[in-house]
Amino acid sequence: MGDVVKLKRPKPGVKHQGKSLCQHGHHQWAAAVQTPFDVKQGRLVTRYICRRCGATKFSAH
Ligand SMILES: [Zn+2]
Repeated sequence: MGDVVKLKRPKPGVKHQGKSLCQHGHHQWAAAVQTPFDVKQGRLVTRYICRRCGATKFSAH
């Protein structure tokens, strides 16, 4: 427990263009270049942020 990945909410006023794709799991992932690596549970992972809805995910190496 205690390993919760918080999802960032989009800013108010952001257009919902293409957001239906996100709701179907087709996010537009982009690597978070400012923090390319995070240590999560002792692993190096890359963080990705969806350009449309701002969701985040981690990809383990
Ligand atoms: Zn998305």
